[in-house]
Amino acid sequence: MSKKLKISGVLSAIVCAGLVTAAAPSVAADRFVTIGTGGVTGVYYAAGGAICRLVNKDRKTTGIRCSVESTGGSVYNINAIRGGELDLGVAQSDWQYNAFKGESKFKDAGAMSELRAVFSLHPEPFTVLARKEANIKSFADFKGKRFNVGNPGSGTRASMDELLGALGWKITDFSLASELKADEHGAALCDNKIDGFFYGVGHPSANIQDPTTTCGAKLIPLTGPAIDKLVASNPFYAKVEIPGGIYANNPAATPTYGVMATFVSSSKVSPDLVYQIVKAVFENFDDFKKLHPAFAHLAPKDMIKNGLSAPLHDGAVKYYKEKGWM
Ligand code: GLU
Repeated sequence: MSKKLKISGVLSAIVCAGLVTAAAPSVAADRFVTIGTGGVTGVYYAAGGAICRLVNKDRKTTGIRCSVESTGGSVYNINAIRGGELDLGVAQSDWQYNAFKGESKFKDAGAMSELRAVFSLHPEPFTVLARKEANIKSFADFKGKRFNVGNPGSGTRASMDELLGALGWKITDFSLASELKADEHGAALCDNKIDGFFYGVGHPSANIQDPTTTCGAKLIPLTGPAIDKLVASNPFYAKVEIPGGIYANNPAATPTYGVMATFVSSSKVSPDLVYQIVKAVFENFDDFKKLHPAFAHLAPKDMIKNGLSAPLHDGAVKYYKEKGWM
């Protein structure tokens, strides 16, 4: 972060000294910002792209150059923000909560008191897809089958581990527990390499559209007493339905539970930078919502509070107060 700022400052100083004549107006030094997302077929990557697109529109006045990085997902993004390798990232609300409090997977690393919420995005129902021919009716039917539990570093995988714990299952209850990335699980399913996968993702998503269209993959509900208990005992989980008919071959609604996608940063990232990013999104909010169908129902009043457990970043608070939203 600060390293990049310094480097860009030096570069523009060199450019100014070497090439620009005396009459040149003083231009703000470029500031580079990188947003950590997820796999390219997921919604995080599209969200990061949409945010950067709006931020970069104002580059001439703000000097901000925003770019998106495809990453392993939520837990990776949070850790990279903690390490100062990323300025901002998208993360599931359950992992924002656990990182801020130093719970679950973040117990060893300890509470990340510098974690800051910027806003929340779309809901992410935990989505289980089964191969049509595997004859799966409920999650229990996956016992002894080949199941993709997700790549380490994804919020998906971390939430999968919580689910297995709640069900009293071990990873060895699957005949094969693969760790493919979200970009790979759809093809693996249709190629009969796995019988099912788990993915925390917004809808509609190209990632789910592909296997439901290509090989008639089926959405499987996540319900039952263990899930009721899991939802009741954790503030970040809620019951949700994946609406029927949004994917081919899946006409009925699928009951499950899920979290929210959230946009997070660190108190070490400059308030002005976060202010400019938040401003770019909300001043162009109708455009933003059109950049992905999963954003269609977003509303600012929800985005500044739902799913957020870390404190709001100072730069975001400044903008929300200016708008009279807080
Ligand atoms: N929620 C997923 C994760 O953190 C990423 C979903 C997406 O990329 O849209 O693993």
